[in-house]
Amino acid sequence: MSTVAGRLQIILNELRLPTVKRLWAALAEQSNKEGWPAERFLTTVMEHELAEREIRRLERHRLESQLLPGKLLSNFDFTAVPTVSKAHVTALAEGDGWIEQGSNLLLFGPPGVGKSHLACAIGNGLIDRGYRVCFTRTSDLVQRLQVARREMRLPAEIARLDRFDLLILDDLSYVRRDQAETSVLFELIAERYERKSLALTANQPFSAWDQVFPDIAMTLAAVDRLVHHSTIFELNVESYRRRAAARGDAPVPLRSTKASPRATATTKATSKTAAKATTKPSPRPTASS
Ligand code: ADP
Ligand code: MG
Repeated sequence: MSTVAGRLQIILNELRLPTVKRLWAALAEQSNKEGWPAERFLTTVMEHELAEREIRRLERHRLESQLLPGKLLSNFDFTAVPTVSKAHVTALAEGDGWIEQGSNLLLFGPPGVGKSHLACAIGNGLIDRGYRVCFTRTSDLVQRLQVARREMRLPAEIARLDRFDLLILDDLSYVRRDQAETSVLFELIAERYERKSLALTANQPFSAWDQVFPDIAMTLAAVDRLVHHSTIFELNVESYRRRAAARGDAPVPLRSTKASPRATATTKATSKTAAKATTKPSPRPTASS
């Protein structure tokens, strides 16, 4: 290797340009052979770096998102949930303004109907568009925030979550009673309100949410903020898993083996109230039922 080439390797390491480092020699050879002007050579190597940098960025975002693998729009069967419009979900997965506005997405329905699948599919679409997404079980996040509160760093922990354009809180209904005794979840909701989007899945409708917040006033305040700018999907169909099993399909692997006793409760919304997804529905929730 010539001294110049050796020096270049060091510089490219220093400047963290791995793609240029990998490709420059071949492109330089081509450039010399074809007599490219210097600016064409420079632009070409730099364009490669830029393109690969973008790919690496998306890979990083996908990894940090902790989205459930393989839950995509392309493998979601919309015919199974007539209350959910494919066009609407596709628009959400493209961003379509709602992320900039900090609007929310609420997915309700009994277990196994595809709430987590849909939330992840939308998250995946958003990552492709350059947004940052984080998927977490609600009870895991609540636990993390409780630890932060004890260590007097709750605001900082909530602020750290600001880097995510969409935070998906999966299975709100599984927040444990003792977790509900602190208000960390409310503080998260209030902090992100009208700034950063939340997506939330839950087995139970609003009426049962007093179990996940310390008191009814806080439940109402949380629900108000969540629904103010939101899209709500109610998936009141039979479990996709159960239907697949009845058809004799290969079993759909269960993500969690922990069956909550509450998991068998279906939402109280009737097919009439669950007619379709609504934007800004703002049904005044009843906190106790
Ligand atoms: P929920 O979150 O509502 O309990 P999941 O999203 O975990 O349900 O769905 C249960 C399983 O069934 C998952 O493996 C999911 O991919 C699959 N599933 C559910 N609904 C659909 C659907 N409409 N099309 C394709 N797969 C589905
Ligand atoms: Mg789920």
